[in-house]
Amino acid sequence: KEEHIRKPDWLKIKLNTNENYVGLKKLMREHRLHTVCEEAKCPNIHECWAVRRTATFMILGSVCTRACRFCAVKTGLPTELDWQEPERVAESVRIMNLKHVVVTAVARDDLKDGGAAVFAETVRAIRRKNPFTTIEVLPSDMGGVYENLKTLMDARPDILNHNIETVRRLTPRVRARATYERSLEFLRRAKELQPDIPTKSSIMVGLGETKEEIIEAMDDLRANHVDILTIGQYLQPTKKHLKVVKYYHPDEFRELKEIALSKGFSHCEAGPLVRSSYHADEQVNEAAKA
Ligand code: SF4
Ligand code: SF4
Repeated sequence: KEEHIRKPDWLKIKLNTNENYVGLKKLMREHRLHTVCEEAKCPNIHECWAVRRTATFMILGSVCTRACRFCAVKTGLPTELDWQEPERVAESVRIMNLKHVVVTAVARDDLKDGGAAVFAETVRAIRRKNPFTTIEVLPSDMGGVYENLKTLMDARPDILNHNIETVRRLTPRVRARATYERSLEFLRRAKELQPDIPTKSSIMVGLGETKEEIIEAMDDLRANHVDILTIGQYLQPTKKHLKVVKYYHPDEFRELKEIALSKGFSHCEAGPLVRSSYHADEQVNEAAKA
């Protein structure tokens, strides 16, 4: 019989679907845009869209060339590059009146530049139309080609976020193609290219890692000059994805946050529902002060 761990109460929250939110969903369909908030059925969507005025767009299509074992994004052959997408994202940011926007993308291993040119153009288009919105980019490792990273950093996002997702030992089981070392190097190089742009990374816990391994990951990130860290609970998107090995208690997240801050991260969000983009608006301000 399959072992099944029950979801603790602190993860059972009701999705709030008010009118504002329904209107914004319609806007996304009209502009043929995808948000992680919707696709990942993120439990924070009401707070983010309506209260904090932040959202996470997924560009370069909705089909990924990789198949990470924690991720609900479809795998397959991606569609053609859409050069109108940057303008549509920029316009949606304007209509949604966002204070902070996160732009992420599927991994486009089919493209030589990993999608970097469209990604960079999206940052520029958002900036042109929304000069007061802070922009966080969350790329894949873009094939580990640093020319691609440079293309993106040249567009001057406010935060460069790249997730290591899990601890070193579990990386080969959890992530497809990406490696732990390459992600660390990616973060280090981003800092070398634009030293004044804060860098950020994220790990999911609950995949079978130990506390020592989480601390090792923190040390590795700090050694590569990463400024901001988020730690959240892994939740299994479907039965085909990796099982949850452990649900961390909110007190354990509090402890992890304290450890992270003691390691020198300028900001750390840690909690059961924390996602890479959660409370990102605050992080920009804090990083600017640091
Ligand atoms: Fe969207 Fe991130 Fe907020 Fe979730 S936490 S609703 S994915 S911006
Ligand atoms: Fe999901 Fe990103 Fe992995 Fe693609 S590369 S499967 S979008 S986590």
